[in-house]
Amino acid sequence: MNIHEYQAREIFRSHGMPVPDSEVATGPEEAAEAARRLGGGVVVKAQVHAGGRGKAGGVKLAADPAEARAAAVAILDLEIKGLPVRKVLVAPAVEIATEAYAGVVMDRASQRPVLMVSPEGGIDIEQVAAEKPEAIFKETIDPRYGLLAHQATGLGYRLFSDPALAGQAARVLNGLWKAYASTDATLAEVNPLVSTPAGEVLAIDAKMNIDDNALFRHPDLAALRDVDAEASSERRARDAGLSYIKLDGDVGCCVNGAGLAMATMDLVKYYGGNPANFLDIGGSSSPDKVIAALQIISEDPNVRSILFNIFGGITRCDDVANGIVAATGRLELEVPITIRLTGTNEREAVRILEAAGFEANTDMDVAVQRAVAAAGRAA
Ligand code: GDP
Ligand code: MN
Repeated sequence: MNIHEYQAREIFRSHGMPVPDSEVATGPEEAAEAARRLGGGVVVKAQVHAGGRGKAGGVKLAADPAEARAAAVAILDLEIKGLPVRKVLVAPAVEIATEAYAGVVMDRASQRPVLMVSPEGGIDIEQVAAEKPEAIFKETIDPRYGLLAHQATGLGYRLFSDPALAGQAARVLNGLWKAYASTDATLAEVNPLVSTPAGEVLAIDAKMNIDDNALFRHPDLAALRDVDAEASSERRARDAGLSYIKLDGDVGCCVNGAGLAMATMDLVKYYGGNPANFLDIGGSSSPDKVIAALQIISEDPNVRSILFNIFGGITRCDDVANGIVAATGRLELEVPITIRLTGTNEREAVRILEAAGFEANTDMDVAVQRAVAAAGRAA
């Protein structure tokens, strides 16, 4: 689950991190009032679940309340990476001497959290990783012991050679680790972690991702979910009981079972295609779920071909076939569908699909190749 910067700032602050005061506003007048209360120059920032707000015009400096109002008008009118901006954060503008990066992420390779820092902050850390990997420094954290003092100090000195600044940075890293660990986060990130000309280290951005599977033990965090701010496709998938993750490719995948869904995505890649999503319609799929799934997939403008891959166990192939027929009757799909089903009630399913004018495949390799080819023809 993504949370907003203003929410992550609160969590960071509660772990002793140096985060400047801020207020949230939902309209220009509120933003102006917040600027008046904070006094002096402010920064007005879009609160959306997307990075790169700065580049998209979603972060603006304002010298006084009138400018803050104007900045809020402009920012609240934006859509950043497809997400409308409904709130802005207003914080005192910080004078920046240097911008660094600090983040804790779950690292698959070491199966541990990793604390990563770079003196090259402010910009995308992916870009630093690609162009200047030697500027990224990492420590793997053993969750039994947490971030050790020497690790925090060592990384503090990677960011700043000045001992006073390095010490402050080490304390920030400790706070960041605690924020990450205590919330069952999968990401806790400060970019930029700045130093000021006065010699202070401050966290002026905050990004956190909380593990959905741990929310049951953090009701206070679960309450932070901002349904309005989530991609509508992911919200609708959750409401329909589907596990859906949008990706960047063009082959929409509709599969039952997480393992088969991953194998399907692998095979799409293997045959030269790119999956548009991960989607698990789950076991015992009712036609309603299939309809919801097709609706969500077909609303993604990148999708050029849709692939069904169903292994009928508890899921009955005829249920899925009925769902496909019902959904395509209702939805007016503009992209070709390739269907593969095998297992329980396969024969009935093939009859239902063929009667409705679809071709039904039983071989996974054949179906994936057809779906990939169909996306290529459409492109
Ligand atoms: P992001 O682009 O979504 O990551 O948003 P950030 O909060 O990181 O802001 C983007 C950039 O705006 C930062 O890297 C800074 O260069 C700049 N910025 C943000 N807040 C301030 C501030 O208080 N003072 C100044 N001078 N620049 C800021
Ligand atoms: Mn940032």
